[in-house]
Amino acid sequence: MTDAPQNRIAERLRPFGTTVFAEMTTLANEHGAVNLSQGFPDDPGPELAHDAAARAMRAGHNQYAPLPGVPELRRSVAAWCKRGIGVDADPDREITITNGATGALASTMIGLIDPGDEVVVFEPYYDSYRADIAMAGGIPRFVTLRPHGERFSFDPSQLRNAFGPKTRAVLVNTPHNPTGTVYSRDELEQIAALCREHDVIAVSDEVYERLTFDPDQPHISIASLPGMRERTIVISSIGKIFSLTGWKIGWAVAPAHLTAGIRAAHQFLAYAIATPLQQGAAVMLDMGEEQARRIVAHDHAMLEKLRPALSNLGFRVYDPAGTYFIMAEHTQVSERIGVLGDVELCRWLTTEARVAAIPPSAFYEDKAEGSRYIRFAFCKRAETIDEAIRRLRAALG
Ligand code: PMP
Ligand code: GLN
Repeated sequence: MTDAPQNRIAERLRPFGTTVFAEMTTLANEHGAVNLSQGFPDDPGPELAHDAAARAMRAGHNQYAPLPGVPELRRSVAAWCKRGIGVDADPDREITITNGATGALASTMIGLIDPGDEVVVFEPYYDSYRADIAMAGGIPRFVTLRPHGERFSFDPSQLRNAFGPKTRAVLVNTPHNPTGTVYSRDELEQIAALCREHDVIAVSDEVYERLTFDPDQPHISIASLPGMRERTIVISSIGKIFSLTGWKIGWAVAPAHLTAGIRAAHQFLAYAIATPLQQGAAVMLDMGEEQARRIVAHDHAMLEKLRPALSNLGFRVYDPAGTYFIMAEHTQVSERIGVLGDVELCRWLTTEARVAAIPPSAFYEDKAEGSRYIRFAFCKRAETIDEAIRRLRAALG
């Protein structure tokens, strides 16, 4: 018998292994666990969306879309940005429809970063950022978000030290996955000041733009700050706004001179994105306000259900001002049951308690920094959250 061939993975992608989301959802399914790991809603999504996409298919919108995206959707994204974050954008020259926010992030990095360019990244980070920077040949410079009272934030001097003569971009994510931090105007202004000083572009991942829960901490786009529009790429998608994560319709909004680089990469990574789903997304952005509001209210209610239950079990919960996620420090729980470390605890919870969560060390360069936390997604149906709480109480209570 011949040995099976060894996996071949290009050197630049070798460090990243299999993404933690695929790993944990697979494990959850194998063990019949309630899946509070990967951030996706477990409901069918709005009917308005199903009808709009089906109508587009039946009307024959089934061939390649134009490279930058269907004109109707680019116009809808422009109006959405104007209403939501106060940013004016030209649908023809400044908006590109991509394969989810993930596609926008990849096209941005590959299209705008040269080998050796430095990119400032806040950790914990969404895992594709690191891989995108590596695929572009860039070098990440990390700034760590740590608890300051009830929320995670950065140390201004660490941020300043991360910027230097080779810095080309900073990746900003607000509302922030996984900490739930919604950056304040003051925090964004500190980042913006460094961008202006060092002539750096801001890549602003705003996929959770509508998922905020505290009227005192509204979502602000860094693009809306003075001098930032011309140096910012705003990235978002319909996945989180309308509970349609499987559609993978996203966008990058950027001044024409940066859109040039994004489209240069996008044309060869994807060329164009699913036509009828773009048509459906346009309808949602134009007419889905009520659906979006309902989703936020539901997720807020699920947060209010899960947070006290986790606290009562001994997790130190950091109250998220936005996103789908609760970051909780697990030391008290893990010491009680003798399962130390986030990876070990998540594995134990999935296989023994049958509730899956994400080990956040996957989002840190310094794994030890992340290993004291665990991330729970609450973007689920009430029955799902109730069942998760019941199982956690049975296993840990
Ligand atoms: N950025 C962040 C911060 C995310 O949490 C996610 C996961 N949805 C994405 C980007 C990817 O978004 P999409 O599914 O639209 O590709
Ligand atoms: N954004 C989602 C999360 O953080 C999942 C995205 C993915 O599966 N790639 O859980």
